[in-house]
Amino acid sequence: MVQSQKPRYDLIIKNAKLVDAESDTQPSRDIAIRDGKIAVIAATIDAGEAKEILDARGQLAFPGVVDAHMHTGIYSALEDDAVSESQAAAMGGVTASLNYMRTGQYYLNKSGPYSEFFPEVLEKSAGRFHVDYAYHLAPIMSSHIDEIDECIEKFGVTSFKIFMFYGGHGLHGASNDQSKFLMTGPDDRYDFAHFEFIMRAVQRARERFPHLADSISLGLHCETAEIMRAYTNIVEREGKLEGLKAYSAARPPHSEGLAIFIASYLANETALPNINLLHLTSRKAVEAAMQMQHVFPHINFGREVTIGHLVLDVDSKAAAFAKVNPPIRPREDVEYLWERVLDGSIDWIVSDHACCRTEYKLHCGQHGHSIFLAKSGFGGTEYLLPALITEGKKRGLSMSRIAALTSTNPARRYGLPGKGRIAVGRDADIALVDPDRSWTIHAKDSPSQQGYTPFEGLEMSAKVTRTILRGHTVFADGKIVGSAIGQYLKRPC
Ligand SMILES: [Zn+2]
Repeated sequence: MVQSQKPRYDLIIKNAKLVDAESDTQPSRDIAIRDGKIAVIAATIDAGEAKEILDARGQLAFPGVVDAHMHTGIYSALEDDAVSESQAAAMGGVTASLNYMRTGQYYLNKSGPYSEFFPEVLEKSAGRFHVDYAYHLAPIMSSHIDEIDECIEKFGVTSFKIFMFYGGHGLHGASNDQSKFLMTGPDDRYDFAHFEFIMRAVQRARERFPHLADSISLGLHCETAEIMRAYTNIVEREGKLEGLKAYSAARPPHSEGLAIFIASYLANETALPNINLLHLTSRKAVEAAMQMQHVFPHINFGREVTIGHLVLDVDSKAAAFAKVNPPIRPREDVEYLWERVLDGSIDWIVSDHACCRTEYKLHCGQHGHSIFLAKSGFGGTEYLLPALITEGKKRGLSMSRIAALTSTNPARRYGLPGKGRIAVGRDADIALVDPDRSWTIHAKDSPSQQGYTPFEGLEMSAKVTRTILRGHTVFADGKIVGSAIGQYLKRPC
């Protein structure tokens, strides 16, 4: 039969409970999609108007998760990690993956100007991601500071990062040689002065590109090398603590607090208002962040926590598998983080996904398993949304707040106006969630190549059943669907 008219829409999702950061309720809606964008949202849309119909059967439709903190390609080749870890992202309802990238050891394991390094990153990424992706860049060498404008204008990178402890502590708490680890020259110093000059350059760029100013920001990993070095020595010498307890004590919360004070002071000094305090883990860290907000009310701080720090504590049986920087903390800190998520002090929640394979994670040398020898970081993007719903429901966190924390807020901060909400004109990025489906986390069920997960065995009470990226299903019923159609998000876009 020949239809007289081409259907008006590519896809209509029927009977979805729409989750929106601005609305306390989740009304039942039909969502019509055309050319990858949301075309109409209404109580009912005539099914005859679409090529394809999908009945959501009353499931929740969350805006696709914007996982604003990932590390694709840190421990494995970027071109391989991009495939498997973006598949893990798709499994968790993630539709935009924002990745930290830098020169030096790990990642591409090389140095050089970003004008040469970043095109290689983009080349290795192209056609490999199953969800849309962007990069944050860390100016490591002093010459990188002069490239910030070009990173914004030419590459569409509008967010930058400082790892405050790298200058004196390496990545895993063993290296003291910053020039070797960061592959920098004799004139480069990765220190407070370098951080100050980065901030000045980012602020200059905000003034130079006023139409982009809101989406240009700087994130900081806030830990203090000197405190960590001293406390690591104490913990190792005393030998009383083991595992995650030892690692938390070796990188104590006041090391985070002090770094937050320094970062905030420098932000004020350099008049840079868009500062992101990444992965706050403890009461002291969040209290320091709130004190700085009070002292510097003109600074627009973004306060981030990770799902790992909201779910795991130092008693987790995951032990060294849960080693991460900053460390997993005692339960009192975890519950304090929840209080601040609930009272609105936290702006977005991320995975800090860094796929670190089993054989790589644990160092089984002659000294046996030591937390100090294990590699830092683990994946978890696939559990971000289900774990936040599961744990959030127990504590009274609303669905609309979950949408804000996982999608709307990071999309706004990081210059992604097409993402972050299910709304007419935006990208049709949707995570369908069954809010009453129980399941148990097993690493073997994830497409991630990590081989284990510190979340192993945790019971979830909500499940992502389908992930839709720009109108295309990329994950459904436990399986990846289709090829790697993720696009590079040249920001702002
Ligand atoms: Zn990270």
